[in-house]
Amino acid sequence: MSKKPKLIIVIPCYNEEQVLPVTAPLFLEKIEGLIDAGKIAEDSKIMFVNDGSKDNTWKIIKDLSKQNAAYTGICLSRNRGHQNALLAGLMDAKDKCDITISIDCDGQDDINAMDEMVDAYLDGAEIVYGVRNNRDSDTAFKRSTAQGYYKLLNKMGAEVVYNHADYRLASSKVLNEFAKFEEVNIYLRGMFPLVGFKSTCVYYERHERMKGESHYPLHKMLALAVDGITSLSIKPIRIITGMGIFMSLLSIILIIYVLISFGSGNVVQGWSSNVIIVLLIGGIQMISLGVIGEYVGKIYLETKHRPRFIISEKTENSDVEE
Ligand code: UDP
Ligand code: MG
Repeated sequence: MSKKPKLIIVIPCYNEEQVLPVTAPLFLEKIEGLIDAGKIAEDSKIMFVNDGSKDNTWKIIKDLSKQNAAYTGICLSRNRGHQNALLAGLMDAKDKCDITISIDCDGQDDINAMDEMVDAYLDGAEIVYGVRNNRDSDTAFKRSTAQGYYKLLNKMGAEVVYNHADYRLASSKVLNEFAKFEEVNIYLRGMFPLVGFKSTCVYYERHERMKGESHYPLHKMLALAVDGITSLSIKPIRIITGMGIFMSLLSIILIIYVLISFGSGNVVQGWSSNVIIVLLIGGIQMISLGVIGEYVGKIYLETKHRPRFIISEKTENSDVEE
């Protein structure tokens, strides 16, 4: 049999001192199980990415790495958000292993799906998307907004795997290509399909968070949603152009109508209709400017070429070659 692939599980952590001691041993158990089953190499690892936590998360990670060599960690210089933290981990891991699996550290995603993911890789898939088979553990609000959002994204021409978040297997081959995507506005789950390669899905059940609280309050969720659309699609700008054309045509018709009624001497006291039209057009213009501004802002950020993350520290065992 050919050489077994080395796996690194990449786990972003932000203020997770409560949940980390609970889930870290579960990840270790899973890695050991996969090694025992002869599916992955013995030097497979777990990599925690501390996303500038303000609590004891980094200390916990360092302690774990002293307990067992399979635990490694990198620390970002400040909080950069889930997507950037995950990217930092994946970019750091890509040269050290054959496959990565990214997963949240709160135990919501069923780690047992990893077996199937690795099997799919051994069968030739380079990307394996973890897909939730239901949303029972979500609030009704999150469930319906999320569902509507995926549909919207796909209508906007962004190829996103339905009900897939950031639980996925990606081979180092894929990650090396992914590294060439240099944008700072990142929406990983929408970008991986752009890399191509053979991919497949694995279905799993999503649970409640084991401990601690969600770091995705409504405003962060909305920001991620806007980033998702604007980093993957320029359709909103086209919609605005279409709206502009439609409004112009409408106004031409209106102008003709006004001229005719003026000519027939039938002058009306058109105050209310005037105000309505002004308000309507004013509103549409404001929205349009906002959407365009969103893209201009993104262009501005991209032109700066700032680093997407800065690693300030690593656990001692993290760069050891075996
Ligand atoms: N996370 C992160 N940086 C942040 C916010 C969150 O690295 O700024 C991590 C967090 O530790 C967790 C994952 O991203 O591992 C998902 O976050 P969370 O569980 O709070 O979100 P939810 O599952 O509620 O969408
Ligand atoms: Mg969570």
